Amino acid sequence: MGKKTSSTQLAVIGGGPGGYAAAFSAADLGLDVTLIDLEANPGGTCLFRGCIPSKALLHAARILTEAKEAEHWGITFPEPKIDIARLRAATEGVVAKMTGGLGQLCKARKIRLVQGRASFRDSTDVSINHLDGSIETLAFENAIIATGSRPAMLPKLMLESPRVMNSTDALKLDDVPETMLVIGGGYIGLELTTVYAALGTKVTVVELAPNLLPGADADLVKPVAKRMEEMCEAVYLESSVDGLEEVKNGIQATLKGKKIKDSKQTFDKVLMCVGRKPNSSGIRLDCTKVETDEQGFIVVDDQMRTADPGIFAIGDVAGEPMLAHKATHEGHVAAEVIAGHPVAFNAQAIPAVVFTDPEVAWVGLTQTETKAQGLNVNVATFPWGASGRATTLNRNDGLTKIITDAETERILGVGITGTNAGDLIAEAALAIEMGATAQDLHLTIHPHPTLSETIMEAAEMIYGKSTHIYKPKRKKK
Ligand code: FAD
Ligand code: NAD
Repeated sequence: MGKKTSSTQLAVIGGGPGGYAAAFSAADLGLDVTLIDLEANPGGTCLFRGCIPSKALLHAARILTEAKEAEHWGITFPEPKIDIARLRAATEGVVAKMTGGLGQLCKARKIRLVQGRASFRDSTDVSINHLDGSIETLAFENAIIATGSRPAMLPKLMLESPRVMNSTDALKLDDVPETMLVIGGGYIGLELTTVYAALGTKVTVVELAPNLLPGADADLVKPVAKRMEEMCEAVYLESSVDGLEEVKNGIQATLKGKKIKDSKQTFDKVLMCVGRKPNSSGIRLDCTKVETDEQGFIVVDDQMRTADPGIFAIGDVAGEPMLAHKATHEGHVAAEVIAGHPVAFNAQAIPAVVFTDPEVAWVGLTQTETKAQGLNVNVATFPWGASGRATTLNRNDGLTKIITDAETERILGVGITGTNAGDLIAEAALAIEMGATAQDLHLTIHPHPTLSETIMEAAEMIYGKSTHIYKPKRKKK
């Protein structure tokens, strides 16, 4: 096959929310940009096999759950019929619409979009293997590595079987298995449990840690853990899967944990979701001066520069948290630095949202982190049982928690569990970014009746008062 040479000011390797945001930003700043991805359109993990298809399926799950719970309001529907092919097609339609739109935005910005696999030849050239087998050598002035991450698999549970899935397989929704074992009760495990359980699968979750979502505060996780218990066949904490074996009608798993009575259980499908690994191998970083840490993340400074002066790295491949909005923000920083602007990544906080039912969201420090750091803090929790809006939704299973610095009253962290917590947390992220105090949130008039009022009332509670919570004053002796 033929060989071709070409050049560009900026080569962006990987078209996920980090890479495409960087490419768009750089093109808007006047740079000549080449964006290389394995797919025909930008989107990356997030749009093709991550955030977007999972949220489309979670929307369908919410419709099913709400239809069931409508009984509370005296409304009943016949048993829903699920046309799995149409659900799959609708989800694929969402992905196609969004990734196609990104392709058009590339064209409009005159970005050269190349479908192929890129790897470094040296610190100024990449080699691109095109789908037709031809190879292109692309010389660059700067490069941004945005190759993302892939599912981590547990070596002792490796089994070549279509019944053993990672998140990409599970999102394809080939069928609705009768039973499913979910290994890992983190973001992916709980979101996909929410989807499959709503579709009718009997799900068993096995989590190594003493709590689901180990990174979040235990009080925030409690309402979702309760709901998980209700929707799942079983949730086993402090437990592990010691082996998987293909048997006649499924996968037999060997389970270990205090509460597990039956250590050998057979499932139609197994979903492994125990974290993700950075895609830093396979791009010939050894031909450059780029350095990685012991986990394989590319080491970068606050301007997203690697140890190789012309090469930058952003997103999942450049470290935790592996979240799309963090990748996008880093993409903007890298593009602006390359265009000569004096900027750096100095966000005060990166919000996290788990789109379960109810949603769990937090930003800034968790209470566990403030304890570990020995900080002098005030903590106030407003239970959604006292929220008018939550009551109108019959969803009082939530809470809003604010953590402030005891001396400065500045907001250090906010956690919210409840319906639409993911949308609500943005206000808290802004408050932390602006250095706001609890007084600022308390004195900001929030619209009624909304779930956002729970933030205002939690802020009031920092000062020992709240309109909808009565705490009798201690009698003076
Ligand atoms: P990616 O999106 O992984 O993109 C990397 C791109 O690089 C890919 O397109 C890949 O094909 C390409 N690539 C890799 N190697 C090469 C190469 N050698 N040559 C050319 N191209 C290459 N995050 C959230 O914030 N919210 C969510 O709701 C959310 N949900 C998720 C649900 C699931 C099931 C999963 C798996 C992830 C989810 N995430 C979510 C995480 C989010 O998808 C990632 O944090 C985000 O996609 C990272 O963006 P990125 O640009 O760093 O890399
Ligand atoms: P995760 O880190 O969120 O959760 C993995 C879970 O697996 C942890 O709770 C861990 O304790 C558990 N675990 C590890 N080894 C285990 C074992 N041997 N047996 C049982 N449990 C084990 O990872 P994930 O769910 O795979 O998701 C990967 C990443 O993708 C997330 O960390 C997040 O950055 C991103 N993501 C984000 C969203 C979102 O923003 N809504 C959604 C999905 C994924």
